[in-house]
Amino acid sequence: MMKMEKTKKFVLLALTMVLVFSLAACGAQSGGDEDVVTYKAVTEPSFPPFDTTDEDGNIIGFDMDLMNAIAEDQGFKVTYEALAFDALIPALQAGNADIITAGMNAEDPARQAKVDFSKTYYDSALVVVVKKDNTTVNGFNDLTADMKVASQIGTTGADKTNELKANGQIKEAVILDAFTTCMLQLRNGDVQAVIIDKPVAESYVAKQPDFVKIVGEPEGAESYGFAVQKGNKELLDKINAGLQNMIDNGTYDALIEKWF
Ligand code: GLN
Repeated sequence: MMKMEKTKKFVLLALTMVLVFSLAACGAQSGGDEDVVTYKAVTEPSFPPFDTTDEDGNIIGFDMDLMNAIAEDQGFKVTYEALAFDALIPALQAGNADIITAGMNAEDPARQAKVDFSKTYYDSALVVVVKKDNTTVNGFNDLTADMKVASQIGTTGADKTNELKANGQIKEAVILDAFTTCMLQLRNGDVQAVIIDKPVAESYVAKQPDFVKIVGEPEGAESYGFAVQKGNKELLDKINAGLQNMIDNGTYDALIEKWF
């Protein structure tokens, strides 16, 4: 009996030692560079200069450069993955991603109910883009009941286009996956106008001045922010602190210079 107890005690002691040593081994591994936390960001990369791809298909843009600078400042890393714009918030809600870097309007109550936004980093608005030779459409008010208008799914531009359709002002709201597809439809004459964010329209017109133009006054002021999962205060605080540091140290202005 006595011997049995002793054996049990010894086994217990041996197990405890094994546990202690393995925990110590784990501890020794952390503290290295592998320890830097990596967050997954999602975007819709047909939205240059904010979100686009290079010739090799890598996701690049103002949003990525700014987020990478914030990450470096705050000691974390970010990887980027492409999704349709209307899949970005669901990806965060499902826990499949940590950050949205997508030129996303943060001043939208429906979005604010689902995710938390950083301080905003870029003021924007919507504009109408038409073919260069269009002489009848000179702004939102000139869109008429015989016209098809395209915009990108899940965006503020799509909201506006659907609203024009609901009001009976236009014939059809053509809601497409990518901004580039909207412009293709405009080129083909399938739609008569595209409603899109002003800075993205300007960057497109700068590259294709013979094909399209922006008409009229911008509408619907908005401001872009980065989004995180609801309640992820730790990450949001880091993003906000890093963003402020990038504004204060001139990195933000340098990136504006680089991309616009
Ligand atoms: N700013 C618009 C929005 O928030 C469009 C963004 C985008 O297409 N990436 O809906």
